[in-house]
Amino acid sequence: MRWSFSAYGTFRRCQRQWFYKQVFASALANDPNRREAHRLSKLESVQAWRGKIVDTVISETIIPCISAKQSCTVSDAKRRADDLFTSQKSQRIVPNGAVTFFEVEYGLPLTIDVFDKALTDIHTALDNFFEAEQVLKILQSAKSLVPQRALSFKHGVASVRVVPDLITFQNGQAPAVLDWKVNTYPMRDYWLQLVTGAIAVTRCNPHRDWPSGATQYNTNEVTLLEVQLLSGDVRIHTASEYDIHEAEDFISISATEMELAGDGKDSKNLHPKDYPVTSEPRTCQMCQFRKLCWEVACE
Ligand code: SF4
Repeated sequence: MRWSFSAYGTFRRCQRQWFYKQVFASALANDPNRREAHRLSKLESVQAWRGKIVDTVISETIIPCISAKQSCTVSDAKRRADDLFTSQKSQRIVPNGAVTFFEVEYGLPLTIDVFDKALTDIHTALDNFFEAEQVLKILQSAKSLVPQRALSFKHGVASVRVVPDLITFQNGQAPAVLDWKVNTYPMRDYWLQLVTGAIAVTRCNPHRDWPSGATQYNTNEVTLLEVQLLSGDVRIHTASEYDIHEAEDFISISATEMELAGDGKDSKNLHPKDYPVTSEPRTCQMCQFRKLCWEVACE
């Protein structure tokens, strides 16, 4: 059972949506519905897209400059963001393209105000990143910075996958795990994601480009930082023994729940109708698979 926070988040919202995304969608399948599910799985809302632009600029522009001890000003970062914004927007407003906005696919209005707000949020997030002195200090003193690295470890039936926004390795100190968020309304369970990141960084096989001794530390020694880029808040979390057990229990219970939902059948023999639909209509409003799901409901 492949387990990640986002997969379980989808499963909790709607089991059928999870099935479409994690099991059914396939770019190479003969079944046209499975290929369509793959195309729909790539749709993203303007709100999600603006967060990805911030992630890309931090990971691919700012962090490499810090690593190479080169200058990168907030203006440089905003210029890069503006270029991405313009080029990606023109690709995504085309209906039925390889990547399309969710709003275009489902006929929702995309006004100039929507895009102005998205660009303002991107600039605010980058301003706040450069003003987060506590974070910049950790980055500038690190021996090695590893952005957006997929980590995995086994826990019971679950093969857990976590992608921290950044792992930093300091000389003679335990690593730090950082996640930044571009959320207007921050959720409360980010500590759980960060603790899972700390478990992953101390339990996975060390990656080739990590400094020697990188995984010799205990999970509770890892520094955890949540950076809320729209508000500018930096929250430090701890991974106490209690927190680590909480995270492990959460993974075990949720992975078992996901496993049981398949009723022991091989995934090849499962159909969307085998999974219940959400009872929350608002979940359907923002669901990428609505077209397919509602067709199935009419069969
Ligand atoms: S349309 Fe609604 S019920 Fe169907 S998969 Fe999406 S969220 Fe679930």
